Amino acid sequence: MAVLGFFSAVRAAPWLWRRAAAGLPGHCPGKGYTVGPAQVRTVQSPPTFGFLLDIDGVLVRGHRVIPAAVEAFRRLVNAQGQLRVPVVFVTNAGNILQRGKAQELSALLGFKVEPDQVILSHSPMKLFSQYHGKRMLVSGQGPLVENTRALGFENVVTVDELRMAFPVLDMVDLQRRPKTTPLPRSDFPAIEGVLLLGEPVRWETSLQLIMDVLLSNGNPGTGLATAPYPHLPVLASNMDLLWMAEARMPRFGHGTFLLCLETIYRKVTGNELRYEGLMGKPSILTYQYAEDLIRQQAERRGWAAPIQKLYAVGDNPMSDVYGANLFHQYLQMVKHDGAEELGADGLWKQRPSATQSCSSILVCTGVYSPKTPGSTEPAQGEEPPFHGHRDFSFSPKLMEASHIVNDVDEAVQLVFHKEGWAS
Ligand SMILES: [Mg+2]
Repeated sequence: MAVLGFFSAVRAAPWLWRRAAAGLPGHCPGKGYTVGPAQVRTVQSPPTFGFLLDIDGVLVRGHRVIPAAVEAFRRLVNAQGQLRVPVVFVTNAGNILQRGKAQELSALLGFKVEPDQVILSHSPMKLFSQYHGKRMLVSGQGPLVENTRALGFENVVTVDELRMAFPVLDMVDLQRRPKTTPLPRSDFPAIEGVLLLGEPVRWETSLQLIMDVLLSNGNPGTGLATAPYPHLPVLASNMDLLWMAEARMPRFGHGTFLLCLETIYRKVTGNELRYEGLMGKPSILTYQYAEDLIRQQAERRGWAAPIQKLYAVGDNPMSDVYGANLFHQYLQMVKHDGAEELGADGLWKQRPSATQSCSSILVCTGVYSPKTPGSTEPAQGEEPPFHGHRDFSFSPKLMEASHIVNDVDEAVQLVFHKEGWAS
């Protein structure tokens, strides 16, 4: 068993946290709340806990690092520059490459982040190997093809490639309409499924062409008299309705795009759009994936003690808090009913895990802020609007954070305090 060091007392810096008040959404703590020093073990054992850190609104705002994140990593890293506990970065972003995100984080945090510590919203698509050999239409932006290859898909068609093959499909923008009528083509292999990786640039084009593929059973050049149902398999990632960048108000996320697609599909066909897989926070699949990476990280470091507790730090009550609490609920059900029965519901059947709990820690440096327009703070006596996805039921209890702190540095201090570690 590795001994990491000796500590006799916690840092003198005061605690600035408190448990969330009952009900949604609670309040940011404000400065000045303190608790006494924790009981710190004199010999540091290998960690039995790990962190799931959200990125936007927790570590960075746009391209700027949040100063508390740099402080947090000073605590998380030992004198040799290695992490003292397993950490994964779980973001709902998807229009980027894993290694690109790792490089960006390394530069901002002053700590070497490995690509396999980064979980993008679509990372769990690696688990859907039954579709990896199929011809899939992919929607999103950025390095789409490279991303789908990295996930294991071998035969993808982008929305742009589909538009080039069938120019008469994209008719909203007058400037992009074909000037002449192209010859119909029959040499375009049928599409067998749809991947929605992240928000595309031209929503009208993607919405139209995805609908065309679903309504024509993958042959948008021909069309069908009756739309097939169930439609082709759709895998989607990132259901965040809103996200926070540099602007003072939240921005549209991929969840808003999915909402448009679901609404159009229902209006046109009378049926619900169905997802074969819906991933990214708050999906349990994403937390199972994160849990597995944390376990692997601990194994690589030679930490023999199993990881029993996860702490998920985020700024979005609907994705970060709801997701962590949903996963915690799932862990309790697994303990009670066994993983086998739950696996039948489409969740990833993984090997038995040692994880006992997943706590949600909400920070006030991003989407969640009682004073931010468009945030989830309701007016007095009003029900807060439900920003979650259609397939996730509204449950105020699941949006109640285990803890609310000002920033990620306080989150790390809080966890170290609870675990009896010096910070
Ligand atoms: Mg965030």
